[in-house]
Amino acid sequence: MRRHQGLKAAAAAVIATGMIVTFPSMAFAQDGKSATELSGHGAAQRIATTGVTSKAKNVILFIGDGMGDSEITVARDYLKGASGSFDGLDSIGQPGALTSNGEAATGQYTTYSLGSGSKDAGNPVVTPVTDSAASGSGWATGTKTYNNAVDVDVNQNAQLNLIELAKAKGLATGNVTTAEIQDATPAVLESHSTQRSCYGPQGKTDGTSDNSAKNCDASQLKQNGGIGSISEQLLDTRADVTIGGGSKYFKQTAQAGTYKGTTLWEQATERGYQTVSNDVDAFSKLTYKKNSPVLALLSDGNMPTQYDTTPALSQKATEERGAVTCSTSSSWLGNKTASGNSASLADMTDKAIDLLQSQVGDTSTSTSGFFLQVEGASIDKQDHAANACGQIGETDDLDKAISAAVAKLKTRGELDDTLIIVTADHAHTSQIVSEPPAYALSTILKSPVDGSTIVVSYGTATSVDSGADDASVGYTAGGMEHTGTQLRIAASGPGADRVTGLTDQTDNFYTIAKALGLASTTSEQKALSDSGKVAVKKKSDGSVSAEVTGFDGDSVLSYTLKDSTGTILATTDSSAKSANAISGVQGVRVATAQTTDIALDGVESGATGYTLSVTGKQSGKTVTVSFDGPAADGSTTTSGDVAKKGGKEAASTLATGKVAEQPSAATGVATLLGRTGSAVLGVVAAVAALALAGGIAVAARRGLFTR
Ligand code: MG
Ligand code: ZN
Repeated sequence: MRRHQGLKAAAAAVIATGMIVTFPSMAFAQDGKSATELSGHGAAQRIATTGVTSKAKNVILFIGDGMGDSEITVARDYLKGASGSFDGLDSIGQPGALTSNGEAATGQYTTYSLGSGSKDAGNPVVTPVTDSAASGSGWATGTKTYNNAVDVDVNQNAQLNLIELAKAKGLATGNVTTAEIQDATPAVLESHSTQRSCYGPQGKTDGTSDNSAKNCDASQLKQNGGIGSISEQLLDTRADVTIGGGSKYFKQTAQAGTYKGTTLWEQATERGYQTVSNDVDAFSKLTYKKNSPVLALLSDGNMPTQYDTTPALSQKATEERGAVTCSTSSSWLGNKTASGNSASLADMTDKAIDLLQSQVGDTSTSTSGFFLQVEGASIDKQDHAANACGQIGETDDLDKAISAAVAKLKTRGELDDTLIIVTADHAHTSQIVSEPPAYALSTILKSPVDGSTIVVSYGTATSVDSGADDASVGYTAGGMEHTGTQLRIAASGPGADRVTGLTDQTDNFYTIAKALGLASTTSEQKALSDSGKVAVKKKSDGSVSAEVTGFDGDSVLSYTLKDSTGTILATTDSSAKSANAISGVQGVRVATAQTTDIALDGVESGATGYTLSVTGKQSGKTVTVSFDGPAADGSTTTSGDVAKKGGKEAASTLATGKVAEQPSAATGVATLLGRTGSAVLGVVAAVAALALAGGIAVAARRGLFTR
């Protein structure tokens, strides 16, 4: 007692004198940073200095949306018994469970975000409870942001995500979910959006109406010079495998750009995708075809859940209802069709790995491995709806998907080379309690395995909105809310050790990027645009456009086109347009590791002295090109034809940076304009040879596009 008082006195003295003392056992502790300090790329990492012990050829990231420890335990208690274990879910991170000598580790991570919506953009505030958009942005880009943001930081500037970086590295990429493919978790691998609800060019509709004004910031829409909606950017991103729901949103029609007036489904077909809409049998038959990415959207909205609903009730009603057991829903896509096919999350995962592995095995490509994200989306959505069986069934679906992946990787001899990570994006409401609570909703379950009575309570709302799991309403109408508790992260395979202990959600980005050797730091990412090139070309239809390649360190390009007098003919510089424009989503979406086209409206035949500057908004790297308009003499051959025959290949060749040493023999004038932007690299300016006339003075108004 005396000793205790003595310590208290000493502590009081320390406080009184303002002394700073560090006990050896407390060396690890530190106070948190401010929101502004946390808002930079990588600034929220807890283990920034930790490398990976080994490199992985492939990474599969399994996200159980809303799958906190409580959700895992509810599902395990019911499906496996309290002493049981999941075959997939519990095997990841368990030493020796997958391979006898492979890495396996489990840890916890923090998930807080930096704002409760876009109202906080520009003025970040530490926000303990994240949504799936901010959390997804965290694990996909390594940058914390505000709730509602998709891969844009708190200043609404795009942050490079894992699929962009994997494509830049030459890996095959896949994105699989049971949600609408535009939902936040899959969206963070295919788009940059200031609002998670900016599903398509017509907003969140099936194309028969337009509510884009409500769901999208105007700056982001293509008709306003923006980078486009989530669905449009999905097509630009061009992951090799995309499987999910949300097919009805692809019935929307592009409002501007190359594909103006066509539906997104038509655009996907035109761009060479293999498409499947709401057809499980067609999905089952999909096979790898080179340069034909798979876009399979198997339901109008979110996919139907495995189990029928068992909505939570008040204490008295719960007791009167008694213990319930879960039953399989007839609408679940995991049920066999008449042809014997199914599309459970396990089926989708199995298909995705087959497709990706076939691409890696295609020696005519240089694909060296793959990155795949698989989301069990509706654990969250059913938790919002206080539906215990719903969330249990979705957890089961995810568990079986993990098992399917492990089995497939074993079959293909890839298991030892693949890092598998299983985690969630945020925790959720459900809790296992001893009795139906007086002041919360609950459901009593009877485990069919060990006979235990499991009481699950939902305590953040007094009633459940029946529309909570309705895709047209969205989860925000639901009653139950996310929680801010830290989450389990488990990993097996090369690089797994990096999830050990306490990390942050943003560390997961670095764990994956480092395991795959992707560019993870800002400087590494900027360097991906060192080989940026621009080739101004006259197309076979007479229009003039710039073909941009090598800007893989960027998600968004800006450009300015000037005539010989210095007058700006076209620009993405938002300050020249509207004071309210959000600059970060204005410009041209980069088609990573592909060619991004910029239509150059206003270039006239016979006119000379144009200047085009293209700048990567993330890298700051700039290419400036001087060129003349197409000749006005009525020559008949198109540059497209010539290019195919090699006759005017000089335009492309010059754009590779050889312009300075070897000026074009064509009629264009090659000029090295030197470097602008980053001091790291000045990209050689190329002048395209626009030698041949097409008789079209001004290109048709086409807006911006990528392909
Ligand atoms: Mg999700
Ligand atoms: Zn949610």
